Amino acid sequence: DWVELADAAEEGVHATASVDVAAPVVAVVGRPNVGKSTLVNRLIGRRQAVVEDKPGVTRDRVAYDAQWSGRRFTVVDTGGWEPDAKDRALAIARQAEVAVNTADVILFVVDTVVGPTDVDEAAVKMLRRSKKPVILIANKCDNQAIEMEAVALWSLGLGQPFPLSALHGRGSGDLLDAILAALPTAPPIVESGPRGPRRVALVGRPNVGKSSLLNRVAGEERSVVDSVAGTTVDPVDSLVELGGEVWQFVDTAGLRKRAGQASGTEYFASLRTAGAIEAAEVSVVLLDASEVISEQDQRLLTMVNEAGRALVLAFNKWDLVDTDRRWYLDKEIDRELKRIPWAIRVNISAATGRSIDRLAPALRTALASWEQRLPTGKLNAWLTALVQATPHPVRGGRAPRVLFATQASTQPPKFVIFTTGPLDPGYVRFIERKLREEFGFEGTPIEFSVRTRR
Ligand code: GDP
Ligand code: GDP
Repeated sequence: DWVELADAAEEGVHATASVDVAAPVVAVVGRPNVGKSTLVNRLIGRRQAVVEDKPGVTRDRVAYDAQWSGRRFTVVDTGGWEPDAKDRALAIARQAEVAVNTADVILFVVDTVVGPTDVDEAAVKMLRRSKKPVILIANKCDNQAIEMEAVALWSLGLGQPFPLSALHGRGSGDLLDAILAALPTAPPIVESGPRGPRRVALVGRPNVGKSSLLNRVAGEERSVVDSVAGTTVDPVDSLVELGGEVWQFVDTAGLRKRAGQASGTEYFASLRTAGAIEAAEVSVVLLDASEVISEQDQRLLTMVNEAGRALVLAFNKWDLVDTDRRWYLDKEIDRELKRIPWAIRVNISAATGRSIDRLAPALRTALASWEQRLPTGKLNAWLTALVQATPHPVRGGRAPRVLFATQASTQPPKFVIFTTGPLDPGYVRFIERKLREEFGFEGTPIEFSVRTRR
């Protein structure tokens, strides 16, 4: 019943249509002072409590990564949402509603020493209607004597209370086991093993200089193949040493054959190009700097963008670019490439060898961005401040609230934004622009999906 809203396929904001692999969400709900934040810190092991708990910045405590027994999940501290609310009962009702909308499992925290209150009971009504799994936490059970009091919480009708001392850790291992049991979808933490050479697609329309570039960089091709033992390299690929590293240029058979020849259209069968882009991690899209940026160039850029691959834009034949052409090219770039302002550009000449040494650093930067992962705590400290400073515009008297976000995956980076309603595509683009200003992601497309509930 989650709705994935596709936003703005245009303008470089590339949204996923399918449910992705976001870590499941555990929301912590309860009255003020029952120990929600203490519990959150306990669950995340304080590792990510990067945001200082200064008075007045409590809103920054929103969402964090947690892991237990090799599984990962996102912990949401709803205590940070309504710190100034005058009407506490209302505040907790809203908080509970939001938690119900976004969470996979709800941790409902009650103060065992105080016992169940009217406000607790009002929240329970809401939580039970949600039919989401709720774990009732009898907090502040610092010792056996207080734990005896936890039986009083059965009256809330949420089943067995879970005795815990968030402050001292008593019962927290059992709680984490219980959370995992309620979260069958928690994705495992995958350790990446050693990997082979990074895979590069070298694409461009006919005559931009692909063969020439490959020839220039692939002089040592055969000796390189021998030295990379145990890699399974397709015979149509080329292993090339560039910048002190071996790279696997995908599906270059056609280019090698034609090496030295003038041109040919056979390689630019778009199916084959699409296959190379898919097979690669990063694409070098080669453009002819001496000619106008064409429709065909644009199609290739779109293919790389939509395949979610890292991108390096190489303007070849730079030896032919004079001051005049340079002026026009700058204008063209502003106009034609504004949907991919994040692309890394290098100006090269396959003929003279100019700036060929800038290719490898550009590829590395693009790949690093493609694999960059933002910790959830850091992401939300930033996002909370952003949406507070520039809230979503009001439409028809209402504005959806951005609650929190997580980075669901990498290669390319995919973010899931949890909200109370659909977001304007323009607002998602605004978030993307600001995210890039803050965290870089140079050379990689970023995907966003918005998660809300009908
Ligand atoms: P929140 O408003 O629900 O986020 O509550 P806090 O986490 O800020 O905790 C409120 C107060 O309760 C703080 O003084 C905590 O130190 C205290 N507290 C939290 N958990 C426990 C616990 O397990 N035992 C005891 N004795 N105190 C706790
Ligand atoms: P492909 O079709 O993309 O593989 O392009 P080729 O490598 O066959 O190059 C097409 C033509 O452009 C050939 O005549 C090359 O000599 C020429 N060429 C390639 N790179 C450069 C360059 O950097 N500068 C100049 N002036 N000519 C180049």
